[in-house]
Amino acid sequence: MAFHLLDGKALSEEIRGEIARKTLQLREKGVTPGLAVILVGEDPASQIYVRNKGLACEKVGFHSETIRLPESTTQTELTDTIRRLNEDPAIDGILVQLPLPEHLDERAALNTILPEKDVDGFHLINADRLLAGESTVVPCTPKGVMRLIAKAGVPLSGKEAVVIGRSNIVGKPMALLLMQAGCTVTVCHSRTRDVAAHTRRADVVVSAVGKPGFVTADMIKPGALVIDVGINRVDGKVCGDVDFDAVSKVAGWLTPVPGGVGPMTITMLLENTLEAAERRQ
Ligand code: NAP
Repeated sequence: MAFHLLDGKALSEEIRGEIARKTLQLREKGVTPGLAVILVGEDPASQIYVRNKGLACEKVGFHSETIRLPESTTQTELTDTIRRLNEDPAIDGILVQLPLPEHLDERAALNTILPEKDVDGFHLINADRLLAGESTVVPCTPKGVMRLIAKAGVPLSGKEAVVIGRSNIVGKPMALLLMQAGCTVTVCHSRTRDVAAHTRRADVVVSAVGKPGFVTADMIKPGALVIDVGINRVDGKVCGDVDFDAVSKVAGWLTPVPGGVGPMTITMLLENTLEAAERRQ
């Protein structure tokens, strides 16, 4: 089977063009979608992510605010900031950049965001709706992965899918979405005895581990669709979990890193914010 590169950058640009067009229409009706990002502390990777989110907002015509809080911020101060944004009519979406410094309770912070302003889809009410298969705000990274799979045009019903990683923000919601799309889903994690035994029979593999070179060619069934969620830095260069050169010789479809899932995550954040603004309107 021929190899196809699943280009997340190109798909993102297409979707962002559509978001910009809808934003213009909303603004003509007096509604400007607004996103507030809260960054606590000085984590360098988080600073880059937050800056990129702000720039992406500007490009599609959103109002965006970045609230930078010091590392020493208390839980009460963080809660007060979120509550103020909950009440701010110019803000449709609130995002708390993770990870938070260790002394802060991440779950409590996320659950303080109004569910309708929770554009990351991490609030317990939204997570519960996803579990129940109801319409809800879907977490950005797994939502972006589903869009990439849709772009590939590979039907999912009846397929074997393996998700490597079981985090609340990627692995678990990813498995739910694939199951809802009709896949038979296996979730692998650090206690899985033989990950390759599972991936070798999978039509779809989504890797969200955070280890460079984790997925090798001998783990992939010929023609499989492989999505690389991992973001790792090796010698200053960004790479995913998948050995790209070797796996691209076996897989039917593969996302690159960078330029695959990463841009789609930010695009889905924009889409979730736009949808929140449309609900407000
Ligand atoms: P995480 O919370 O650290 O989860 C990693 C998962 O990998 C855990 O479930 C862990 O299992 C599993 N794992 C670790 N070693 C393993 C092994 N040897 N075999 C099988 N499973 C193993 O990370 P995350 O937040 O889900 O993120 C995963 C990766 O995706 C990271 O590289 C992150 O930077 C990247 N990411 C990218 C985007 C994007 O937009 N592209 C968005 C979010 C995250 P246990 O649960 O047993 O520990």
